[in-house]
Amino acid sequence: MKIGSVQCESGTRTTGYLEVTTLPTGGAERLPVVVARGEGDGPTLWITGGIHGNEMTGVAAVQDVLTNGVPDGLRGTVVCVPMCNPSGIRRLERTSSYHDDDPNRFFPAADAADTTGKRVQELIDERLYEEIVDSADALLDLHTAQVGSVPFVIRDRVLYGTHRDEAAARDLAGRLDGLARATELPLVNEYPAEEYADRNLHRSTAGAVLNEAGIPALTLELGGHDAIEEGSRAAGVAAVYRAMRHLEMLPSVPESIAGADPGFESPVSFPVRRFVGPRAESVGICRPQIETGTAFEAEEAVADVVSPHGDCVETLSAPHDGYVLGWRSPVTYENDPVSSLAIRDEGDLVTPRS
Ligand SMILES: [Zn+2]
Repeated sequence: MKIGSVQCESGTRTTGYLEVTTLPTGGAERLPVVVARGEGDGPTLWITGGIHGNEMTGVAAVQDVLTNGVPDGLRGTVVCVPMCNPSGIRRLERTSSYHDDDPNRFFPAADAADTTGKRVQELIDERLYEEIVDSADALLDLHTAQVGSVPFVIRDRVLYGTHRDEAAARDLAGRLDGLARATELPLVNEYPAEEYADRNLHRSTAGAVLNEAGIPALTLELGGHDAIEEGSRAAGVAAVYRAMRHLEMLPSVPESIAGADPGFESPVSFPVRRFVGPRAESVGICRPQIETGTAFEAEEAVADVVSPHGDCVETLSAPHDGYVLGWRSPVTYENDPVSSLAIRDEGDLVTPRS
């Protein structure tokens, strides 16, 4: 197996770079790559991070997966790419600097329109995607979410109609479910299919690898952005090792890794999905009324909006049972969503692409 400059032999850990474009100032934009190959044959697991340049706990967790060399008893291959958006990381910004695009929305999709030609971020995403699907049996893409966010794993809906029939989609969704549960992070289903497509999430790293290539792929959200949060980092590394054990690449999770995980659990026992809202009709400053990671019931107050003078002008309530994942900007303009919630999910995890 060769990925960029990395040619990895059995029983070794090798580092190098994957060049993804040429820079106008000279040299290349290149993604750091770390590959560890076990002595025995087994699956290939890709771990990616830093596609959003301000999500540094994800970067740190990917860096730490192989920092101690080849894991004892490893079968198969682990490929780590901690910085998928170096241009964003250099300025600690979510987007890349080329055109200020969100780099996690340009991965290949069957329904992607191309009328004006592909710009550099889309070409970079395509090159990374081709490397991933060339060898991956599974992918974990590590991110962070909002301010004060609790860690969770996102399970995308599996689409059928273009690349697979419904039976194949259910089989893929079953394998995805097993991998998601194996991480032992709180499990949150992705938005309903229509909103998923509207937000171009089928063109995210995990969305494209799952729904285009048919390879189990998950997005892990490891706390808040900008800083490196130690508990979420340790939970992310442990989640990766549990996925390796689930894929029969490791006999067990090393105690040093399992023991460092603070352990994050869902506060509710029912299935939940991502929801952005509620939305403030009033302009002002949002004041959370409950802690992240705390359960609420439908209609319960989650936040107030206060005027410039500090008077409460609106109380926002939960649309459904669930819990708070994280808070969005405390500054609310007209119709701004104030939080990211996990709300009760009654939808199917397998849906037609149309
Ligand atoms: Zn992200």
